[in-house]
Amino acid sequence: MKKMRAVMFYAPKQIRLVEVPLPSPGPGEIVVKVGAALTCGTDFKAYRQGHRVLLGDLPAPFGHELAGTVVETGSGVIHLKNGDRVVCANSAPCDECFYCRRGQNQLCDRLKLHNGAYAEYNLVPAHIVRHNVWKLPDALGFAEAALSEPLACAIHGAEVLSTALGETTAIIGSGPMALLLIQALRAKNTRVLVFGRDRQRLELARQAGAHEVHSAHDVDPVEAVRAATEGRGADCVFEAVGQSATWQQSLAMVRKGGRVCLFGGCAQGTMVPVDAHRVHYGQISLHGVFHHTPLYFRQAVELLGRGAVRTQLLIHGRIPLGDVPAFFDANHERSGAKVAVIP
Ligand SMILES: [Zn+2]
Ligand SMILES: [Zn+2]
Repeated sequence: MKKMRAVMFYAPKQIRLVEVPLPSPGPGEIVVKVGAALTCGTDFKAYRQGHRVLLGDLPAPFGHELAGTVVETGSGVIHLKNGDRVVCANSAPCDECFYCRRGQNQLCDRLKLHNGAYAEYNLVPAHIVRHNVWKLPDALGFAEAALSEPLACAIHGAEVLSTALGETTAIIGSGPMALLLIQALRAKNTRVLVFGRDRQRLELARQAGAHEVHSAHDVDPVEAVRAATEGRGADCVFEAVGQSATWQQSLAMVRKGGRVCLFGGCAQGTMVPVDAHRVHYGQISLHGVFHHTPLYFRQAVELLGRGAVRTQLLIHGRIPLGDVPAFFDANHERSGAKVAVIP
């Protein structure tokens, strides 16, 4: 039996490069030779503490942002062929459940997250092949294309808040997701203010297209937003940190009638006190946003394909597959580092 190398997750802080059987596709499935996989904050979080939703039963294949070349197709696959350069989403909706039938694909009852990007080959399940594998424009590299997954989440956030021309949006946070949010919002012609702590990251936020960046060490973010909006507050606020304090801050910096998006996922069990008077009389809308849909994924591939995203701000270097365990061991405390894994 032919073998391939893959990084498997055994337990928190225990991942190993091992040899596993080379997959072969069943009906509707494809095998993709991984061209590049990207490390992601979610993977670092899973590495630190485990992640039932992401990984399922252990040991589990690891990594979920990947692009590569189709090398084998199962019976019934007609829209893809060997040699196609593609990006594969890490999920696809079932199209049959209560939520899918109401257009809320990201909440699909049967959403099962697909992993195994840190490997030489990936067996893509039939439902993802059917709904969420996209061919790449020739000029788009594999590592850049693999940004489609997080970018699709950012586009989802921008769509849910319906940010519009002429509006001011504040983003709390300056990590990779904030950099993608900035660019998704710029694509919608929104004025973007960014608040963070790390000065290097704030500089990246500026290069990504933020109109103003502020260090929370230097200014009170709520005061700064008011000063930039004639005292009203921002039309939209994205909390891209995932902590109770910044979630409260996001509510304080939005204007009457404005929209707030909890984009950064808080730890399970997090409770946030909310100024109910302000939410009611100020008619403030609070939105949770999770994951992406095939529509947003396709839009992400299109944005990347026409060079509308400054990908070099997000991808900080390349490492071989064999270095993945050591890289996670060294970097899991600072989830910000995104590198391309080249098998
Ligand atoms: Zn990701
Ligand atoms: Zn469904």
